[in-house]
Amino acid sequence: MSARKLSQGFAVIFSAPSGAGKSTVCRKLLQKNRNLRFSISCTTRAPRPGERDGKDYHFLSLEEFKRKIHRDEFLEWALVHDHYYGTPKRFFDDTLSDGGIVILAIDVQGAHSIRRKRPQTVTVFLLPPSWRSLRERLQGRRADAKEVVERRLANAKGELSQARYYDYLVVNDNLAEAVSQIEAVITAERLRVGRQDLSLDGLPDLAAGRR
Ligand code: ADP
Ligand code: 5GP
Repeated sequence: MSARKLSQGFAVIFSAPSGAGKSTVCRKLLQKNRNLRFSISCTTRAPRPGERDGKDYHFLSLEEFKRKIHRDEFLEWALVHDHYYGTPKRFFDDTLSDGGIVILAIDVQGAHSIRRKRPQTVTVFLLPPSWRSLRERLQGRRADAKEVVERRLANAKGELSQARYYDYLVVNDNLAEAVSQIEAVITAERLRVGRQDLSLDGLPDLAAGRR
């Protein structure tokens, strides 16, 4: 698809209860769409097996995280499931100024706070197909202890109640289908008039047709 450079980029936030598939969906989207940029969050939680520092997260000590808070380096930060998580401000703003599209996998508090500060942000809530599948996915990931899984399931109820405040709802049942629905959302958001450069310089064919 031919795509004009945006005058101003935009961000797409994905939220979902833990285990619903945010990381999996984002990974697939990034593989398929080279123009998307992933916002790598900072966190104080320990890496899971297979996670890499600087790719999945910036893994920080509590002291390092607090220093960044004091230096105002986060667009938002929150305490989620007993650990701190934060969105680096500079990457977000620089990518948008450059006409890029940033995708973020962050919790409902983070989504709310970014929306307040950067109102053009698009929000997508991912739903698991059922409670049963959510439990199975959390257990199947084999990354968290039993009590951590139970805490994440308990938190899921509160997170789901926030889904109504999002722009889009996508059920992550079949992964390929969910990804293709999200691609449709991003394509439509990209085409919003407000995001386009409307100067004639940006419309070479039209300008030529007038001569
Ligand atoms: P989150 O980032 O929301 O916590 P993950 O992306 O880690 O969730 O997914 C949790 C587990 O569910 C992983 O083991 C992942 O492979 C699996 N999973 C994700 N999406 C699907 C899907 N559409 N169908 C089946 N399993 C999935
Ligand atoms: P996990 O530990 O499973 O990777 O993430 C736990 C929760 O923290 C998920 O809901 C995830 O989306 C959220 N999260 C990850 N990064 C950020 C962030 O930068 N800010 C906020 N507010 N939440 C985040």
